[in-house]
Amino acid sequence: MRENTSAGSPPGLRIRDLRVSFDGFTAVDGVSLDVPPGDLRFLIGPNGAGKTTLVDAVTGLVKATGSAHFAGQELLGRPVHRIARLGIGRTFQTATVFEELTVLQNLDIAAGAGRGPLTLLRRRKGIPEEVERALETIGLARLRDRPAGILAHGQKQWLEIGMLLVQDVKLLLLDEPVAGMSHDEREATGRLLELISEDRTVVVIEHDMDFMRSFARSVCVLHAGSVLSEGTVAQVQADPKVQEVYLGRARDEATGVTEATGVPAQAQEA
Ligand code: ADP
Ligand code: MG
Repeated sequence: MRENTSAGSPPGLRIRDLRVSFDGFTAVDGVSLDVPPGDLRFLIGPNGAGKTTLVDAVTGLVKATGSAHFAGQELLGRPVHRIARLGIGRTFQTATVFEELTVLQNLDIAAGAGRGPLTLLRRRKGIPEEVERALETIGLARLRDRPAGILAHGQKQWLEIGMLLVQDVKLLLLDEPVAGMSHDEREATGRLLELISEDRTVVVIEHDMDFMRSFARSVCVLHAGSVLSEGTVAQVQADPKVQEVYLGRARDEATGVTEATGVPAQAQEA
């Protein structure tokens, strides 16, 4: 069954009462959330909130109960490769590119993931169109013949995103893609995410509040395995529950009021 995909709008993700337990410890505790088609959703929350586990559940890496629908299909209970075949791709907190191979070879392998080995071995003239396009999108066209191992940290993350683009992934789940990046790399990544979410659905796990404020279209805050708050950046930042557990410092910046004393920061400094 196919839904929406042919109409040009990317499918969304619908999660209901998702639960993941490890030996009696509940890491994801009944999460329900909707990521509409074309969203650029940020998933934030303190360390251990269950963000990575949620993505693991949706991509078939850990067992979960509840439901996760994408393009009219239930994802839970399916093997990893079948979920990938539905057009769902993810990155991990550490980049997993082939360091010895060139940028182009990495993209080529990703693009050929669904092709037979003979097609892959055959020497091709020219570069497949989707690979060319991805190289431009991720800004690595000039570096295409360099081994991926010598790329800067940010560039490796972009290459990983490119490897999802050449597979024409419709839902990208990115686990802390800007961790360890410089300010300029973060900005470039934010613009890249804006660009790819024009015709795909993107979920970004993130810690960096400045980055979230600059680029999130919507935000979901996870805390202790549950959804604490959802909405726009402004709505989430204004939510007292969020300020209490997570955004205390962001609130200082936004309102000029320090959490500990309730006294305006300027007055305190004076
Ligand atoms: P986040 O990505 O929000 O930092 P995680 O999803 O990685 O959090 O982890 C959520 C909780 O689940 C943490 O307490 C973590 O220790 C626990 N956890 C994650 N994976 C496993 C696992 N494979 N076995 C046992 N506990 C795990
Ligand atoms: Mg994590």
